[in-house]
Amino acid sequence: RLPKPFNEANLHYAQSSPERKGLEEALKKLRSQLPVSVPSIRNGKEVASSGSDQLSQHMPAEHANVLAKYTAATKEDVSAVIEAALKAKQEWADMPFFDRAAIFLRAAELVSSKYRFEIMAATMLGQGKNAWQAEIDAAAELADFYRFNVSFAQDIYDRQPTINAPGHAGRTDWRPLEGFVYAISPFNFTAIGGNLISGPALMGNTVVWKPSPSSVYASHLVYKILLEAGLPPNVIQIVNGDAEMITQTVFDHPRFAALNFTGSSDVFRHLYHKAAEGVASKKYGDFPRMVAETSGKNFHLIHSSADVSNAVKHTMRASFEYSGQKCSACSRVYLAKSQADAFLTELKQHMSETKMGDPEDFKNFLGPVINRPAFDRVTKIIKTANEDSRLERIAGGNYDDSKGYYIEPTAYVSNTLDHHLFDQELFGPVLIIYVYEDAEFESLLAKIDAQGGGFALTGSIFANDPQAIRKAENQLRYAAGNFYTNCKTTGAVIGQQSFGGARGSGTNDKAGSADSLRRFTSPRTLKEEF
Ligand code: GLU
Repeated sequence: RLPKPFNEANLHYAQSSPERKGLEEALKKLRSQLPVSVPSIRNGKEVASSGSDQLSQHMPAEHANVLAKYTAATKEDVSAVIEAALKAKQEWADMPFFDRAAIFLRAAELVSSKYRFEIMAATMLGQGKNAWQAEIDAAAELADFYRFNVSFAQDIYDRQPTINAPGHAGRTDWRPLEGFVYAISPFNFTAIGGNLISGPALMGNTVVWKPSPSSVYASHLVYKILLEAGLPPNVIQIVNGDAEMITQTVFDHPRFAALNFTGSSDVFRHLYHKAAEGVASKKYGDFPRMVAETSGKNFHLIHSSADVSNAVKHTMRASFEYSGQKCSACSRVYLAKSQADAFLTELKQHMSETKMGDPEDFKNFLGPVINRPAFDRVTKIIKTANEDSRLERIAGGNYDDSKGYYIEPTAYVSNTLDHHLFDQELFGPVLIIYVYEDAEFESLLAKIDAQGGGFALTGSIFANDPQAIRKAENQLRYAAGNFYTNCKTTGAVIGQQSFGGARGSGTNDKAGSADSLRRFTSPRTLKEEF
């Protein structure tokens, strides 16, 4: 049997700790190499970047500077990558599961030890995370995904018929999909890329991977670690560059078998539409599997029985950690009137004390947003909100893009529930709050369910009254795929809380579960009589 999976222990980076020293050295080393050149890897070998088709990944905390240079794939490259993936498929699918699993378990060890600080440094400089955010992502969650996915895969292979009638032998052959898998990963978690590729690969599929342009370097390291762990060439291949062209080339291929996507709902709708066109014209051998975790408009509901300090502490983290750039971030709060003074006073206090700045400086709680479009989008929301007479700004509201894309944590209290900020996904450090009469709690539940822009990813209730908790659990049954009590909407831990939402938030196949891996199989039922 395989080893029992476990969660990677988080390191704390206290002053003078060995891990802080290790991380500082890795950051220094990476800085001395800037800009790094990211080669394409084809047939397991590095192909040096070349001239005119070079692209750059800039650093969000100092946008004038380039972290990495890399080559854009041409249409021919993408086609060649797909053919190589199909060719590599047979041998990979035939490899005994324990051998496939061993590669990912080795990769988890490499992430946890040899490459921990290197991949964290790439995530900090490239994606603007501070040390702790990089630790929970590029070190802990990445290793967790590898270890737990191996165990989820085993769970699936163990699923066999419950009964064999006399003279019958039945079994299920958990075949990989017939074709290749296309994975598109977001910038906000280095670990999500690792999950989107390792799940399908563990089930015997080969994968074409398009990482976000804002996480090219960290994704390259994820890939290099897998190769060092023994992943055969072409089982997973990265293609960077023009997203439309790459996707079109993939979706034009008759062996396109599945999409494994994390990103915005709008992009997923576009991809779904494209795939549907291929299905309608009978382009593909199979109906492709569409697996997606997308946007959210997540809420904290503070009941009159809540522990206010706990609610504030969790709201600070859920709304402003990593500048609110998590699909799971909280961006709407419903606050009971009897708690409002205490909650808002404490929240304002925390927000005014919060430090924003260079993610490499350990005193900073939040850093920049990822890039120019994100900065422009979020600051436009703030500008409009600052002039909206229905909203009272209680903290923040400023921004500065002279060096990096910095936006202060910002919060508004709305005097009406009927405001578009209760529906619009923000993906930035902005929070909207509504104060409700304590007695309205029950009728409010229906409104919370109806609001949120059609998304349904995460939501939390803060309450000590068990009846209020049960009522919210029941009436908000479809309002969130992950529903938490007395804790924040962010921070699902692999193996403990599988993650994903329904409605506009995705296909709810639950990242960090056997269910999501099951989607990358095409089971065959076998029966033998004797
Ligand atoms: N799984 C992460 C969490 O629970 C969020 C992932 C995402 O932003 O897509 O916070």
